[in-house]
Amino acid sequence: MQPSSRTAQPTARLRGMPRCGGPATAAPSPRPLPPPRCAPSTIFDEGGRDARAPGAPRDVDPATLDEGRRDGRAPGVPPPAQQQPYRLAQRNPAAPRSVVRVGGALIGGPRPVVIGGPCSVESEKQLLAAAEAVRAAGGMILRGGAFKPRTSPYAFSGLGEEGLRLLALARARTGLPVVTEVIEPGDVELVCRYADMLQIGSRNMQNYALLRAVGLARKPVLLKRGLAATIEEWLLAAEYILAGGNPEVVLCERGVRGIDSTLRNQLDLSAVPLLRELTHLPVIVDPSHATGKRSLILPMSLAAIAAGADGLIIEVHPEPDRALSDAAQTVDLQQFAAIMQAVQHVAAATAPYYS
Ligand code: PEP
Ligand code: MN
Repeated sequence: MQPSSRTAQPTARLRGMPRCGGPATAAPSPRPLPPPRCAPSTIFDEGGRDARAPGAPRDVDPATLDEGRRDGRAPGVPPPAQQQPYRLAQRNPAAPRSVVRVGGALIGGPRPVVIGGPCSVESEKQLLAAAEAVRAAGGMILRGGAFKPRTSPYAFSGLGEEGLRLLALARARTGLPVVTEVIEPGDVELVCRYADMLQIGSRNMQNYALLRAVGLARKPVLLKRGLAATIEEWLLAAEYILAGGNPEVVLCERGVRGIDSTLRNQLDLSAVPLLRELTHLPVIVDPSHATGKRSLILPMSLAAIAAGADGLIIEVHPEPDRALSDAAQTVDLQQFAAIMQAVQHVAAATAPYYS
């Protein structure tokens, strides 16, 4: 991770935390997590290499750590009396916020990162058309679900590994890194072979076996807020991933259940500036799932950037009305390009308030 010009936090806090198959190099915490039941530590790269981004933290000699770091605290993190239960995710106001690199995109860096793509990978034609349009409009990361957690067991649940292959093809054609959801611990190794970033969906935010499994991965994780999760529950879910040894976590506010079912969810935009105070982790916003309504994606994207979001994730499809999932909230290619332009304006206008 690299320091953000908006802010950034130390990454050494995780060094010495237990990794699957590897011994801890420092006492991890006063109440250590039990050893993860996990996939082998070879999971991450096609060639079996450490797939962590250049510059990402690696283990260090505990003798070089200061007192706070030896007891599991990030450098400069306040002593226990002031600690939050999410000790690794906690923001140290004196330290910069974290930046998570995904391919060439720096989430938490100076410019907002927009992730675009279809809800589900449906076909080569659909995905490539979406990917080309996302790149042409200035999107930095391609999204697309291959394994879909659907509320109904009868709904389209994705193409599985074929969808992952298509994502890899779209990356090869466009150069865009890809983020896709993983829904089972046993699939983490497979998804890591194809994806640049792993998405943990809302329905799985408290799937602790899955959180532990991605905590062992050498890939960044996009952690969506649970359907009815409090901020603290969400940060504790992130803590599972951090404590597992993976420091590259990005939070995604995607709306929560409220009293009013007029919209799909209620977008909690105040969570964005609040999270900037509470945690060093970058935070992005998903206006698609938050609203469920195509016409609201533009205004809520702008509002999210104005609130200080480090990026957006937007569902886009060449023929949104024919989308096999989430058609009503999916924008077309032209609408996506218009959103991208408008986002640049708001980002430029509001950046001084977040530096
Ligand atoms: C998705 O991103 O397609 C998705 C299912 O999102 P969420 O987990 O936020 O519902
Ligand atoms: Mn969707």
